[in-house]
Amino acid sequence: MYDDNNIFAKILRGEIPNTTVLEDDSTLAFDDISPQAPVHALVIPKNKYVSLNDFAEKASDAEIANLVRAAVKVADKKGVKEDGYRLLVNIGPNSHQEVPHLHFHVLGGRKLGPMLVKG
Ligand code: AMP
Repeated sequence: MYDDNNIFAKILRGEIPNTTVLEDDSTLAFDDISPQAPVHALVIPKNKYVSLNDFAEKASDAEIANLVRAAVKVADKKGVKEDGYRLLVNIGPNSHQEVPHLHFHVLGGRKLGPMLVKG
């Protein structure tokens, strides 16, 4: 069940401000409020999808293509496309997904280290 009161739903409704990186018909990208790297943006679909699982099941091919392309555009706009960056998606409780609206993290601007903290 999608929670209409999650923080990204409020951002999409304009109830909470955001620093927009890019926007198109089906996608919004904005800076993460608590950046984990010099570049840390979030790319989200405008429609209501709880997670990547939900998105893969219900989104149109156009929405899926748009979100993936938007992530690369964000990396380009933020100047990390050529040096390299990390695209990260948390899905569900074991991943520590905090906000129940699908989001891609775009992280870069420094050497990001190993992919996962052990343990
Ligand atoms: P996750 O743990 O994958 O669900 O990531 C949620 C992300 O949302 C975290 O990196 C938070 O810093 C970020 N976040 C939470 N609230 C806001 C907000 N109002 N604006 C931008 N980013 C936010």
